[in-house]
Amino acid sequence: MADKMTKEQRHRCMSRIKGWDTKPEMLVRRYLHSRGYRYRVNMRRLPGTPDIVLRKYKTVIFINGCFWHGHGGCRYFVLPKSNTQYWQEKIERNKERDIEKRIQLRLLGWHTIIVWECELKPKNRHTTLLALEQTLNKIFLLNNSVEVTAGYPVVEESIGIVAGKE
Ligand SMILES: [Zn+2]
Repeated sequence: MADKMTKEQRHRCMSRIKGWDTKPEMLVRRYLHSRGYRYRVNMRRLPGTPDIVLRKYKTVIFINGCFWHGHGGCRYFVLPKSNTQYWQEKIERNKERDIEKRIQLRLLGWHTIIVWECELKPKNRHTTLLALEQTLNKIFLLNNSVEVTAGYPVVEESIGIVAGKE
């Protein structure tokens, strides 16, 4: 039977079947909400339209797909065997754009946290969400206390968990 659905429709349909709230960003949103964080989503006014914006923390969060954003060293980032060069260039451009957005956000005074999709797989999810919360708390202290910054390590803005690592 011919598949008459557009890609977009199919995606929407599939998401509905699987439950739209299992999307990676929903995992992060639900966790943050349950921990009392308040945020806005998909803010178009900020560079890159961040997935989650925590104004109180001057922090934005992007939940990045490992393939599209070229997650280095990740087992989910594998270039297709055909049209390899095309994909490589495309993903390089995405990565450059990500860096530009991050710089623009920084210039506007925002911290950026990247959460990779692989870090939200069931095996890593708990550690990732705890690390995310810790990072937010560190950023909050850095933003709000001069004394704490002395002798405090520079905030690691990527929470830096790679899939498969214990
Ligand atoms: Zn990854």
